[in-house]
Amino acid sequence: MMRAHLADSRIDRILISEEQIAARVTELGHRISCDYAARDLVLITVLKGGTIFLADLCRRIDTVHSIDFMAVSSYGPGAGGAVAITKDLDDAIEDRDVLMVEDIIDTGLTLNYLLKVLRQRRPASLAVCTLLDKDVRRLVDLPIEYRGFEVPDRFLVGYGLDLDGIWRNLPSVATLREEVWDG
Ligand code: 5GP
Repeated sequence: MMRAHLADSRIDRILISEEQIAARVTELGHRISCDYAARDLVLITVLKGGTIFLADLCRRIDTVHSIDFMAVSSYGPGAGGAVAITKDLDDAIEDRDVLMVEDIIDTGLTLNYLLKVLRQRRPASLAVCTLLDKDVRRLVDLPIEYRGFEVPDRFLVGYGLDLDGIWRNLPSVATLREEVWDG
């Protein structure tokens, strides 16, 4: 059956299918379960984009862990990645093993800033898991322990990623026709 969003003329094509995402999330969850066995793991994501990935990933991790959320608002392109934290974590992370869960890392500036903020809170460890890595656009060197897919320099929607608040619910990751976002 044709899904309605695939008939939307603004969607170019499916880049990563629902099935490919599910298989990769299962693999990542398995690796994380092994690496964090008997540790005090907390998964953290930034609202709203990372929530879909976090929800699937945490159900593929079979070690005890908790989840927490932050929200940020950008100061704009000249801010070097500095963001205002508009919703902070509910719980302290001192001495805990923190895994930052990201939907996509693009320039890396936002995450780089957030990692600095979190490091000051003295977690036992701090690592990064991203579903999508737009590595050709990276401006800072970031350690990424868990990576789902490398993606090209295109504007992507779906599986948490939006354009003006919509398309987060697409089960796959899709590219948009250039005229939709380039103008
Ligand atoms: P960075 O600081 O790494 O440049 O910014 C990362 C953020 O930019 C992501 O969390 C996401 O909100 C946004 N972003 C980067 N690339 C894309 C994309 O292809 N599609 C969408 N919807 N957002 C993107």
